[in-house]
Amino acid sequence: MAPVAGTTRDVITQPVVWQERALTLTDTGGMFGASQDPLHEIVVDRGRRALADADLVVMVADGREGFVPGDQDVAAAARASGKSVILAINKMDDRRARDGALELYRLGFDPVIEVSAEHGLGVGDLTDAILQLLPASGRAVPEHETPETSVAIVGRPNAGKSSLVNLLLREERMIVSETPGTTRDSVDTMLTWHRKQFRIVDTAGIRRPGAVSRSGQVETLSVMLARRAIERADVVVLVLDATEGPTDQDGAIAGAAVDAGRGIIIAANKWDLMKVHGQDGSKVFDEQVRFQLKFLDFAPILHISAKTGERAPKLLEAIERVAEARMARVPTGELNRFMEAITNAHPPVSTGSRNVRVLYAAQTGVGPPSFVLFTNVATRLHFSYMRYLENRLREEYGFFGSPIRISVRRRAEHRGRGRAARREGTPR
Ligand code: GDP
Repeated sequence: MAPVAGTTRDVITQPVVWQERALTLTDTGGMFGASQDPLHEIVVDRGRRALADADLVVMVADGREGFVPGDQDVAAAARASGKSVILAINKMDDRRARDGALELYRLGFDPVIEVSAEHGLGVGDLTDAILQLLPASGRAVPEHETPETSVAIVGRPNAGKSSLVNLLLREERMIVSETPGTTRDSVDTMLTWHRKQFRIVDTAGIRRPGAVSRSGQVETLSVMLARRAIERADVVVLVLDATEGPTDQDGAIAGAAVDAGRGIIIAANKWDLMKVHGQDGSKVFDEQVRFQLKFLDFAPILHISAKTGERAPKLLEAIERVAEARMARVPTGELNRFMEAITNAHPPVSTGSRNVRVLYAAQTGVGPPSFVLFTNVATRLHFSYMRYLENRLREEYGFFGSPIRISVRRRAEHRGRGRAARREGTPR
């Protein structure tokens, strides 16, 4: 098909199967614009019918063009359909598209998903959003198949990872099975607890015997195995030997987990040996962990013992909570009211220009929860101000054990409008 506006005239319908759901995708074609076309009336009519028949509407806008008058019409038609609407902003691989998106966000659809159809970016988020918003139908995946949570158990040699995995597998009410992982030598272990499915990734790596030396080589190997497991996990359990506290290697592993946007729990293992220090012991220990792993301040610390089994069920409970928090969404209207309140209470502090205002906020994704703030001027907000925003968001919405991401973009001044004006004057 030629990449010229208005050439996709026909309504194209395509059956697809996503995650065991059978769907019909309908592309409404050039429903808007191309009004010189003698077939336009038919196209518009077919488009209307497609909207009327749909269970869900995905409005696609061009992020590089920014907001154009046609978008208003499409938005109105989508809204008038009374169906759930997802706004997909395309071409977001292009840097110019980032700032132009504000007006599109302001159309007020929820969710807004940024994609690049050409580069395949964000497409997974879009399909997830579609499946989530679709009305339940008889064709859906059976109820009992709750989504599984993938867990990486990582830490230095001797911290107690294999003891912990074995303990979890011994717990009552757990059904365990081994399944091949993605790489040739990796094995995952599935366990069911309270009707929830956990996949412990790369258990072959954990249970591999002999990796007890403190030589540089073995440490590098364990960081490497940890990275591989982290890549595939939703939640990372960083196992520390509580008698030794965190080391640089733990910091490296934790850093990889934060960068990958995984939920994180700090499991202070061998707590049976720490009891002698009494109540104060845990306070002192936690303070030391917070000091040494500052960037993990959002991660809960659990004092456990793989030997005595103390608090193992608590660990699974925490994993479940973190996995949920990592997928949490804040509705756009609520988020904007909240942002307005907290930026009014403490106006933004920027590294450059003064009088920075936050014009609009939106959540752009989950896993981890990611937010974008549009500001009136090109600037970066001061590091301490970003901390303030993050802390307030956490106080309000929790995000227990999950990293969150906040990015700041400038609203594109005039650009969107200039283009829009040019487009209006240019018949296509
Ligand atoms: P991994 O290398 O991280 O898999 O560590 P292991 O599970 O092999 O444990 C290393 C050593 O610590 C073994 O001798 C375990 O018996 C011991 N260990 C593990 N967990 C605990 C615990 O909670 N308390 C005590 N006292 N010892 C533990």
